[in-house]
Amino acid sequence: MPTRRAAIYARISVAQEASVSIDRQVEAAQQYASARGWQVVGTFKDDGVSASEKRPEDRAGWRELLEAPQKYDAVIIWKIDRLSRKLLDFLHADESLQARKAGLVGVEDPIDMTTPQGRAFAQILAVFGQMEADSIRARVADARVKLLKDRRVVGGKVPFGWRSVPNPDGPGLVLAHDPDRIDYVRGMAERVLRGNSIYSVVQWLDEVGAPTPTGRGSWVYGTVERILRHPILAGMTPFNPGSTTKERGSNVLRDGDGLPVVDESVAILPVADWRALVAKLDDNDSAQSRPRALRSKTSALLSGLLWCGEHGGDGIRMHRCTVNGRHGYTCPECSQVISNFEHLVVAEFLRQKGERVRWTRVEEVHEGGAALLPEIEHRLDELDQLIRQATDREVRRELQQQQADLLDLRDAKREEAPNVSLRYEDAGWFEDAWASAGEDVEAQRAVLDDAMERIWVRRGGTGRRTPAQVLARLTIDWKVPEDLGPVDGV
Ligand SMILES: [Zn+2]
Repeated sequence: MPTRRAAIYARISVAQEASVSIDRQVEAAQQYASARGWQVVGTFKDDGVSASEKRPEDRAGWRELLEAPQKYDAVIIWKIDRLSRKLLDFLHADESLQARKAGLVGVEDPIDMTTPQGRAFAQILAVFGQMEADSIRARVADARVKLLKDRRVVGGKVPFGWRSVPNPDGPGLVLAHDPDRIDYVRGMAERVLRGNSIYSVVQWLDEVGAPTPTGRGSWVYGTVERILRHPILAGMTPFNPGSTTKERGSNVLRDGDGLPVVDESVAILPVADWRALVAKLDDNDSAQSRPRALRSKTSALLSGLLWCGEHGGDGIRMHRCTVNGRHGYTCPECSQVISNFEHLVVAEFLRQKGERVRWTRVEEVHEGGAALLPEIEHRLDELDQLIRQATDREVRRELQQQQADLLDLRDAKREEAPNVSLRYEDAGWFEDAWASAGEDVEAQRAVLDDAMERIWVRRGGTGRRTPAQVLARLTIDWKVPEDLGPVDGV
């Protein structure tokens, strides 16, 4: 038997740096050849090509091997998965070798395709190789969906306001609120939902010294907008982070009904609120968005709390007005006016309530089915559109079935009534709450709201008055947290 001539083919993929290096593959093939007394007539290599992506004939090294002038009977490879994980490509490559009257032999796989039996056996191995590649692909896709559903962190950037923490229910990392930053995100969302411009939000962030996502520079419009558009605000997970399609609602992880998978534990807004927020951002983007309101309106400390005490009945709420250039309040009915007294109300509040517990009323609305309704409507709209666009009869039928199921679901959800529960939360002393409100009028208002129901105002004389005289015009109805526990003397 004449000396066999062999060519060596070695390949490494980008994705598998940890796998056997090309040099190692070549060396092993050389040893294989010399152990059998074969003559190596050439060595051909492909670097950085993944086996499931490119067909062998598209690879420079493999083509060179097929076109080489040297004669060879065998091509030595490390394992047949070096050649291809796709069965058809593998068979095609084998055919090309047969045309040159050569066959593959493997160093690690027990194959020798230079004989008919060996060839049949190798083809079976190739089938298994393909099965393995398919199952790896499927496992990777499954794992991603599972990770997302478990709200584990799937690579990518952690959104501003959140951080990744060890999963309390198992392995891996999950997203959780970042206690140092989440309140900034809440503040941004609340302001935009209230109608404040993004420019005013930027200004607010700078004023309170909020850290930027990069930790450098100052806040800019685009950063705020990007943060607020992130579906994580509603506990939803972006599903195609790389996708450039702008189709609304298509970009979050959905369940089998096409409804978003919502994880309320990481959300800061109900889904409907987040959609309203995004709609507001869309409005801002279109049309003439100008830094119209760079200075946010200063809200009055006591507006809504002051009632005219001259009329009996349910009373009449006093309105803000300006008195000699100062702001004050007036009764729309009898036109009595009061101004320059807010500091007195605050002093009285601190004197009477400072060292008492601030009970904060917490309303918990468990929306029942209602929470899902906007999402259902949204998905129904999407389905309408998809059905119109569907050209394939099967696809259309499937979508219509989804639509019918969703309509049933909507009926069921409409019948679930919301369930509101009310409780009071011990929020520490009023004094501390007031101190931590600082100069923020809205925060101060919230503290006063927890302390007082109404401030009644009686008419007073004109001209300068002493604080005692001004106070004498006021009657404060304190909020009495009845049967709320150890709050004596209120
Ligand atoms: Zn009045």
